[in-house]
Amino acid sequence: MLSSDFIQAAAHAAGFDACGVAALGELPAGVLRSFCEWLQRGHHAGMRYMERHLQKRADPRLLLKSGARTAVVTLLSYKPLRRQPPHVPQVSCYAYGLDYHEVLKQRLWKLLAALQAERPALRGRAFADTAPLQERYLALKAGLGWLGKNGMLVSKELGSYTFIGVLLLSDEVKSNTQEQKSRCGACARCVNACPTGAILGNGTVNARLCLSYATIEKHANPLPDEAAAGAEANFGTAKEAGAPKSEKLAAAGYVFGCDICQEACPWNRCAKVAPHSEMQMLPQLLTLTAADWLAMSDEDFEKIFEHSPIKRATLQGMKKNVRAMQPWPTPYFQT
Ligand code: SF4
Ligand code: SF4
Repeated sequence: MLSSDFIQAAAHAAGFDACGVAALGELPAGVLRSFCEWLQRGHHAGMRYMERHLQKRADPRLLLKSGARTAVVTLLSYKPLRRQPPHVPQVSCYAYGLDYHEVLKQRLWKLLAALQAERPALRGRAFADTAPLQERYLALKAGLGWLGKNGMLVSKELGSYTFIGVLLLSDEVKSNTQEQKSRCGACARCVNACPTGAILGNGTVNARLCLSYATIEKHANPLPDEAAAGAEANFGTAKEAGAPKSEKLAAAGYVFGCDICQEACPWNRCAKVAPHSEMQMLPQLLTLTAADWLAMSDEDFEKIFEHSPIKRATLQGMKKNVRAMQPWPTPYFQT
């Protein structure tokens, strides 16, 4: 039988920053209910894939043909060494480097191979944000952190700038970790920092109001009226919380994703910086100005972003976001 200690050592050897093990079963009724309510309220902003395969989401054991019994949950940090300069269109730092789906999958397969070398009868399947899995809930169960008020998994050591990769295994493995209690306490910095009021305070985000969704999935920056009204209403809260209005408005500097709520989180200040070369910034992101984006050809976009998550937004979508964002405000981080 595999031990959690062996799996964690193999995960570190495969290049992960943290790893925990959780027994699989049906999702607790409360967790499933909140997810369904989130869908019913339309807070998934019509992302249809979130609605599919509800049965598997409710019982992740079904995701392995022979039946999964254990989730090995891994974290890979992407906290950047440096940020983009203030004068260029801002990209969420998860997209500075290579596409995380690929990076995570390679490491998960390496980990699975190491476990199968020890136990050849083991069956497993790797997931990198590609299946109806409640990854953050599994990470919580595996003792890797707690769920912050902005819905992100927060790790004491790594903060919330982490990707979650999951291996589902056919074997039962005894966990050596315990679920952690939330360390958010009375803090609400992420909630107050969000320029559009998208964070609902119960650990969920209304994607319809979120800049990340708007810039990646919709190419709809500036935000629709609903979100603009949220930003307006939030200025009062921001003032009370000591955040200058300019910081709130700086949200407009994003053309792909948004890091504002994560940047506000105190746990990210002391978090370790990702030592992974795949996560480091593409050099072009240091210099591409709004004018450069608008003049970019399809060939150049394909060449520069071939292995980047930014490819998802398409060049047309990026240009739309860039056009909507001018004139350029001061980004949040450098104020
Ligand atoms: S990513 Fe940006 S817009 Fe979305 S919840 Fe966080 S701060 Fe708000
Ligand atoms: S900013 Fe505060 S409330 Fe939000 S996740 Fe971080 S610690 Fe929790």
